[in-house]
Amino acid sequence: MSKTIIIDAGHGGIDSGAVGFNKKEKDWTLTISRYQYKRLTELGAKVALTRNADTTLSPTQRIAKIKNQYDICISNHWNAFDGNGRGIETIHSVKAKPDFANDLANRLKQTTNLPLRRVFHRTTSPGVDYYFLHRLTGRTETVIIEYGFIDHAQDHAYYNDEANIYKAAEAVLEGICKNLGIHYVHSTNQTVSKKDGLSGRVESIHHGHLRFYKRPSWKDEDVFGYLTFGQGFTKVLEKVKVGSGKQYKVANARGEVFYVTASPTYVKLIH
Ligand SMILES: [Zn+2]
Repeated sequence: MSKTIIIDAGHGGIDSGAVGFNKKEKDWTLTISRYQYKRLTELGAKVALTRNADTTLSPTQRIAKIKNQYDICISNHWNAFDGNGRGIETIHSVKAKPDFANDLANRLKQTTNLPLRRVFHRTTSPGVDYYFLHRLTGRTETVIIEYGFIDHAQDHAYYNDEANIYKAAEAVLEGICKNLGIHYVHSTNQTVSKKDGLSGRVESIHHGHLRFYKRPSWKDEDVFGYLTFGQGFTKVLEKVKVGSGKQYKVANARGEVFYVTASPTYVKLIH
């Protein structure tokens, strides 16, 4: 039987969690958790979420969703202190080997370039975990991830770019997949960053004629041409919101700029 996982979006509802620069931990944990849930589902994992909206969960309610029902629980969090603390932490149960928590922390450090603060466990007495997500979750092995400090200027600025939340999410996904023996495939969305722009080319994976446009638009009158399967553009400049969808702003070898859907149903990014 393949292993199962639950993604816990920390806090929620009346419990904002940590706060920094007008952003709330509960919103970031929901964003990253929903993304991880979606991606793990795509990758074929058996996965659940503790919450999928801004709802309040008491510790008892949270535990009831997790305890003994999954092999692994990833509990997503951001820290806050006095504005000076920063970096990544992962926390494992006193009953678990630190290997998985170590692996996740190292992957996060490599991907985000944020400092790795510590990998640790915390007890109230010998052999008894301090955190209820470790103490009361039965056979389910929980790793608590603190992705950084929401009230530290640099940590905050990093995650305030939503693309970086997804980057961090991918680092953790890769670690989960390795741990559970699931074949990991990179997401085409992962490299999207508003600041850095994109690298690589974009290619049609649509069996038919895929429209591209002379301006950010979905209108027939703005269609400039069509891509067939495997055709693409040599340069992806950025991802832009067009109406309710997204397009890649792209350039061909001559530097002419066009727009094409960014939907992974129709195109893929190649690096
Ligand atoms: Zn928290």
